[in-house]
Amino acid sequence: MAHSLFDFLKPELSQVLTEKGYPSWRAQQIWEWLYQKGALSFEEMSNLPQNMRAFLAENFLLQRPVQLRHEVSKDKTEKWRLVLEDGNSIEMVLIPEEERERNTLCVSSQVGCGVRCAFCFTGTMGFVRNLEAHEIVSQILLARDFLKDVGSAHQKRTLTNIVLMGMGEPLHNYSNISKALQILMDPSGLAFSKRRITLSTAGVVPFMKKCGEELGVNLAVSLHAPNDAIRSRIIPLNQHYPLAQLMDVCRNYPGINTARRLTFEYVMLKDVNDSKVHAKELVGLIQGIPAKINLIPWNPWPDAHFETSPFERIEAFQNVLENLGVPAFLRTPRGQDISAACGQLK
Ligand code: SAH
Ligand code: SF4
Repeated sequence: MAHSLFDFLKPELSQVLTEKGYPSWRAQQIWEWLYQKGALSFEEMSNLPQNMRAFLAENFLLQRPVQLRHEVSKDKTEKWRLVLEDGNSIEMVLIPEEERERNTLCVSSQVGCGVRCAFCFTGTMGFVRNLEAHEIVSQILLARDFLKDVGSAHQKRTLTNIVLMGMGEPLHNYSNISKALQILMDPSGLAFSKRRITLSTAGVVPFMKKCGEELGVNLAVSLHAPNDAIRSRIIPLNQHYPLAQLMDVCRNYPGINTARRLTFEYVMLKDVNDSKVHAKELVGLIQGIPAKINLIPWNPWPDAHFETSPFERIEAFQNVLENLGVPAFLRTPRGQDISAACGQLK
């Protein structure tokens, strides 16, 4: 059976080639075609001998997922629904930020999600399956194909940042995420700096340390509550990894300091976690951790039992944090009109 080439790290590809009697340095050429030139067929790989192109075409695939639907928000956020080989579908979101000259791709890591946070639309699906490394890598390749298609020389639209904040809990799919990120960060491939990649987790404690040590990407932790009672109610995973454990691993996340802070995400849920008392309790909880807090107005979805906090309450919450010395940012929801905002993917 043919395998996707996007499942192979470069040394793994070299090894396959050597076993078949081809020189291992050819892996570098193939890598350039895949990740620098965005080749869509083996035929294009003009510096490879014909017999090698035939061998690759017989044994490997370089297909991207099929695009089922592409929607563009009035704020220019774009969302794709992608169909995988087995018929399951996922969504990915491209968030342009012109003033910061940034294009951020929000990537999915699973079909559905087994964490089932009460406020998240993806959670209502439950866990369907983990994405393979090639299904993660090819989301980035698709976005790059797309940006090249529409970007003129003046626009210079290129993909600059990746966030693992789409569907799924990335740290419940560590081995595939790890492989995909190694491919993305390989300097001779897609060459993303670890500082331009952010992984968001609901708090899978045992894999957080591993992620910091092995991958070194930025970490965003979905905190969303100042104490165990509230957090366990909205994030069932908190019953396995309560706040004392979570804070301990955050405090020791490799490479964080006041210049490179950990991010805590905090979704503002009316009358659940949004009072000034909660804000003070939150400051106490994260004391001593070099962190910043992103306040996310909750994004609605059908039949949810939550409401977004009123703007004044979010502002008051933010003021408490800032007055106590914690940097706090209010995240403007992007792509709400096409259900592309945080927690609206399904
Ligand atoms: N599973 C990971 C990453 C995907 S979710 C995680 O939970 O961190 C990305 C972010 O969106 C998380 O902080 C998540 O808590 C938040 N989120 C989920 N549903 C939301 C909603 N309806 N409105 C706003 N943010 C939401
Ligand atoms: Fe899963 Fe994250 Fe949604 Fe929770 S918020 S259900 S962990 S995708």
